[in-house]
Amino acid sequence: MFLSEVTLPISVSPYADESGIGYCLRSISRNGSSLHGLRRLLMIDNIGRFTVLHASHLGRVFQQSPQWFETALPSHERARPFQRDCYGHRWFSRNNLRTQSPQVCVQCIHSKGYCRAIWDVSIALVCVEHQCYLVDACPKCHKPLRWDRPRVDVGHCGHIFLSGSYKRAPDALLEFQSFLESKFKASHSDMDHVRGHDFHGLEGLSLSGVHAIVASFGFRSKPFQVLHSTIRTRAYRSGAWTEFVSQGLSRWKSMDACHASLDSLVVQSMLEHMAFNHDFVQDQKFAVSLLELIFNKRLRAELGGQLERLSQLELL
Ligand SMILES: [Zn+2]
Ligand SMILES: [Zn+2]
Repeated sequence: MFLSEVTLPISVSPYADESGIGYCLRSISRNGSSLHGLRRLLMIDNIGRFTVLHASHLGRVFQQSPQWFETALPSHERARPFQRDCYGHRWFSRNNLRTQSPQVCVQCIHSKGYCRAIWDVSIALVCVEHQCYLVDACPKCHKPLRWDRPRVDVGHCGHIFLSGSYKRAPDALLEFQSFLESKFKASHSDMDHVRGHDFHGLEGLSLSGVHAIVASFGFRSKPFQVLHSTIRTRAYRSGAWTEFVSQGLSRWKSMDACHASLDSLVVQSMLEHMAFNHDFVQDQKFAVSLLELIFNKRLRAELGGQLERLSQLELL
């Protein structure tokens, strides 16, 4: 018998808004094993990640529908240009999702007992219900959290996540989080349904597009700051994302008043990446308009001939 034909004695059902890898951790720990044990069962190497390729094995092992895993686990990555599907959305930057360094709302972990899927989104930073920040380190010893840990509510350090007193998250981030969650619930092909949820002009974009706009406006802490080329790939900590997103949102909201000085602050390469590599037409149009507005680019004239896709865009 193949190991992957084993089914586990305790079968727990996933919640509708549960993280794919979070479910694997919750379910395997209920069965007295670990993600390492699960990898062995599936014959994945020690550091291997769970992806859509393992959906049918996982469905059998956990006695759940393989379709659930197909949605909740990341697809096999397409390298150039980078593309990955997960949670019914398409993601165009490697650091859109926190596949390796998880974050949690400590109060939710204790009251709900599972990891929410939205926490896997890098620019999701706060919990609307508890009005607190998500954390990506053990509250006791401050070691960064890992997926490989004994239980959803216990760090790999062995500490149970303490729910003490928390700094209240600012209204701007709570409001942004509500917007993200409403988009997250609607699938990629279903974006029209969230148009009603107005958020400063970002409502028509894919989630990856929202990420690109907010990050391109927020990455630089001061004008002309030179940035590392890994801004779209690096796994930043929650604290760093909080800084980028807060800064990005406040610049984005004040853009009408002062777009003249934005050319030294906004990261042009991120908007270019969005214009040329996102396969969602609203994202492309949006990025081209911003490049023209902020950097005075004449993209249609410069690139229209070479980039057929772009030349066919009807600009906003
Ligand atoms: Zn919470
Ligand atoms: Zn600890």
